Amino acid sequence: MKDYYGRTINYLRISVTDLCNLRCQYCMPAQGVYKKSHNDILNLEEIELIAKEFVSLGINKIKITGGEPLVRKGILTLINNIAKFDGLKDFSMTTNGILLKKFAKSLKNTGLNRVNISLDTLDEKKYFSITRGGNLKHVLDGIEEAKKVGLFPIKINTVLIKGFNDNEIENFVRLTRHENIDVRFIELMSIGEVAKWSKEKFFSTTRILEKIKDLKRIPKEDPSSPADYYQLPDGVGRIGLISPITCKFCKNCNRVRLTADGRLKYCLHSDKEINLKKLLPNRQLIRKVILDSIAQKPLSHSLEERKYIVRNMVQIGG
Ligand code: SAM
Ligand code: SF4
Repeated sequence: MKDYYGRTINYLRISVTDLCNLRCQYCMPAQGVYKKSHNDILNLEEIELIAKEFVSLGINKIKITGGEPLVRKGILTLINNIAKFDGLKDFSMTTNGILLKKFAKSLKNTGLNRVNISLDTLDEKKYFSITRGGNLKHVLDGIEEAKKVGLFPIKINTVLIKGFNDNEIENFVRLTRHENIDVRFIELMSIGEVAKWSKEKFFSTTRILEKIKDLKRIPKEDPSSPADYYQLPDGVGRIGLISPITCKFCKNCNRVRLTADGRLKYCLHSDKEINLKKLLPNRQLIRKVILDSIAQKPLSHSLEERKYIVRNMVQIGG
C-alpha cells in the first residue's frame, strides 16, 4: 500500500484495549480513562478480521499494544491466530512488563516474535511514582523471563522526562554494555492530558549524545525505523534515539494504527479517525476504506504548531 506521498505503508499497530494495570503520569489521567462499554470495543474476532484485511493489502509488520495488551482477556488466542497469517514478517508487542513473567513463555509459544518493554526508571520508588503504583520488580522479572524464552530482540523503551530520569541515562546505557538488549530513549510527546505539562518536562535526545560522548552511530537496518541507533565502543546491545519532536521522522513513516474501538488512525498526531467497526463485517468495504484513507495520510505532524490531539496515549497505543 502506498500513500499519496509514495510512502509504503507496511506496519500496523493494533491497540487491543484501552485498559491498563498502571497509570503512567504522561499517558493517562490519575482517575484512569472512561471505560467503554463492551459493545464499543472490537471483539477478538473483529480485530482478527480487520488485521487479516490489512495483511492481505500489504501490511507485513504488526505490533500489539494497548492500554496494556496483557490485561485483555483472550490475548493469547488472538496472538496465536494472527501469528498464522501468511505474509506477516514481524509480529511483536509493546507491554509495560508487569505481567510478562507470567505470559512470556505462552507468547513465544503462540508465535509472537519479540517484545518492547516500557521502563522509564530503574529506581523502585520512582517507578512507583511515575506509574502511580507499579512494582519495578515485576517488570525486571518479566524482562528476565522474556530473555529466557527467547523473545528477541528485547527492546526497552524509556520516555525522557526532565528532572525525573535524565540523571539515569548512564545507567540505562550501561544495560547495553554486556547484554543484547536495545534501550531506546523516546522524546515526550504532547498528547491528551500530558500536553498541559510536557513542554516543561521535555528533554531532547540530542542531549544524550552530549552527555555520553563515546556513543558511536551505527547504520540503520530498517530505514523506516523511527530510531537512530548508537553503540558503546565495547557494547553488545544498542542505544536507540527516537526523536519525534527534535527530528521528525514523518518522511519515512510506514505505519497506521487501529484503536481498541475500531478506529483507523493514519497519523498519531491527528484527530482524524475512520470508523472501521461500523463497516463490519463487510470485508470489501473495509478494504476500500483502508485504501482510501491511507491515501490521505498527511505528510507530517503539526506538533510544532501546538496542534495536540484529544485522545490520551493509552487510548491509541503509542
Ligand atoms: N502499556 C503498554 C506499554 O506501556 O508499553 C503499551 C501502550 S503504551 C501507550 C505505548 C508506549 O507509549 C509506551 O512505551 C509509553 O511509554 C509511550 N507513551 C505514552 N505516552 C507517551 C507520551 N506522551 N510521549 C511519548 N511516549 C509515550
Ligand atoms: Fe499503561 Fe503503557 Fe500508558 Fe503506562 S504507558 S499507563 S503502562 S498504557
